[in-house]
Formats: sequence, structure tokens, C-alpha cells
Amino acid sequence: MPRIPRARNRLKDTPVVGHKRVLLAAPRGYCAGVDRAVIAVEKALELYGAPVYVRKQIVHNIHVVSELEKKGAIFVEEVDEVPTGSHIVFSAHGVSPAVVTAAADRGLLAIDATCPLVTKVHREAVRFARDDFQILLIGHEGHEEVEGTAGEAPEQTTLVGSPDDADTIEVRDPDKVVWLSQTTLSVDETMETVRRLRARFPNLQDPPSDDICYATQNRQVAIKKVARDSDLVIVVGSANSSNSVRLVEVALEYGAQAAYRVDFASEIKQEWLDGVATVGVTSGASVPDELVHEVLFDLADAGYGDVEEIKTAEEDLLFSLPKELRKDLAGNTDARALGGRVSRPE
Ligand code: SF4
Repeated sequence: MPRIPRARNRLKDTPVVGHKRVLLAAPRGYCAGVDRAVIAVEKALELYGAPVYVRKQIVHNIHVVSELEKKGAIFVEEVDEVPTGSHIVFSAHGVSPAVVTAAADRGLLAIDATCPLVTKVHREAVRFARDDFQILLIGHEGHEEVEGTAGEAPEQTTLVGSPDDADTIEVRDPDKVVWLSQTTLSVDETMETVRRLRARFPNLQDPPSDDICYATQNRQVAIKKVARDSDLVIVVGSANSSNSVRLVEVALEYGAQAAYRVDFASEIKQEWLDGVATVGVTSGASVPDELVHEVLFDLADAGYGDVEEIKTAEEDLLFSLPKELRKDLAGNTDARALGGRVSRPE
């Protein structure tokens, strides 16, 4: 990586023992599902004009939401806030069948930007429920993705919120249980929860493939490598972004002396840098890289202009846009109409 130019002088360059540097994790930032969801709202605005309604935050990042609001998106909590006949986009986190039905009953024109990797978990839930399994859904209570997945089979789903929950939950038939999970959890903590579930229910069935998505896993692998050499780790991401919050936890667990999450570079405190030679930097899957660049600019002001990228994986996954948009975009020659931007780390 080239040296980042010194820019704004908000943070002071104070002396420390050792060479000041930044280790920049890669992959970081936008995943294919977030990219697709954001482009879906942008394309809906271009195609149908403002306003386009979006149920919940399209992705969990306040900067992204505010930029889309400026373009004419209106974010609502529930479909009953949306005028009949309007376009509504369902967020990347997915919705339960009840929400889909409520939108249709209200005469809304829905565009489903649910990440295909979340849809995969929904399908698993439907299939296991049909085969009369009790679904032990590992995830965070109240998270939109968990509500959507549980909504596929509410009577047969039991939420497991933590490894400790695994020791106490009750099941109907220990030979007919399967675990599924939210896509953005800590891999290590989830495996601990599964280990404890299996200790109680030896016939616990695994999901057909990983529910924790490639992007979550890749970002955690990268920050593990960065954290062990970092005095401080800064994670760019919003407080309600599950995978961003997990990156802070993973950084601390894997050797960072301190780790903080910020939405914006301006939140970095001078005292965080006291005595710090190496700063690790990463970002959650809903964070545009421009916000990371702002952090790098401010760190360069403080003497951390030497940036080394630590890359642990290449990403080039691309999802096509929601089918409702593809239909209306037929004949559009804009390459972005075909799908999300390629989420390849730089
Ligand atoms: S974090 Fe994973 S599941 Fe969530 S939108 Fe990104 S790719 Fe999809």
C-alpha cells in the first residue's frame, strides 16, 4: 500500500516506542449481499422515482442509510407506514413470510433485497420444519435477520442466544433437532454453542452448509491475523451491525491490547493512541471503503502513515439484482444493472 498522505491534523503525532504503522485487514468492508441491496435501492429510485420506501435499514450502516435518504429513500419500520401502491424494498437481512403477506395485502410493490445467503438459511428452516425438526436457531434476539428466519417456522424454532443458553434450552424430541444460525455471528462462539448443544443432544443435525456467511468468516480470519500484532484495533461500522461488533470482540480475543468500533474517523480519540505503535484497521460488511480511508487519513495525521495491507482471502462474489428489478431493467445496458459491484479487496 502507498503511504497515505497527511491530511487534516485532527489527531496529534505523539512519540511512541517503536515504528508507527497501520495493519489494514483484507477482506474488509462491503460484502456482495450489502452491495446488491444498496444498488437495489439506487436502481429502484432511478427506475420508479422518489420516494422509494425501505423496510428497516437496508443495511446496518448509518452513513449508507443517510446517503440513500438524500437520494429519496424513506426508511420505515413496518409496511403499514407505506402508502398503498408504493414500492417497498425489503432489507438485506430478510423478512418473514408474514411481512411479505402484509405488504401484498396492502397493495405494495415489493422488491426483495434479502441477501441470497440469508434466503438460503430461510430455505433450510422451511425444509427442516417440513421434516418435523425442531430448529435451534443460534442468533441474537431482536435482530431483524433472526426475526425473518424464525418467521419461516415460528412454532418449530427455538432461539439460542448464547453458549450458556445451550445448557438450559428444552427440546421436544432430542433425536429431531437441527441447528441453524444467523449469518453474522462469531464463528468461534457459534462453534462453542454447537459443542454444548451436541453434548446434550448427540443426534443434533448440522445445517447442510455453513450459515455464517463467507464475508463474516473472511473478515474474522483477517482481523485475527492483524490483531495479534496490534496495540489497538479500530473497526469501522455501526453499533447495530452484528458483524462489526463481532470484529471488535474477535480482535480483543486474538491479542489486540484494545479495540474500538467507530462509525466515523472523527470518533477516534487521541488517548486511544497513547503509546500505540501498531494500529489494526478493519470494517464491517456494511461499510463503504471511503469511511475506512477517512480513518487512514486521520491516522496518518497522527504519524501512522505507513500502511501495510494484511490480506487473507480474495473475494469476487457477485449477486444479481433482485428479480423484480431485473425484470424492469431489461434492456438496460448499464453494467451495474446486472448485479452488485465486485467486492474484491484492494
Ligand atoms: S454479511 Fe453475509 S449474509 Fe449478510 S449481506 Fe453480507 S454476504 Fe449476505
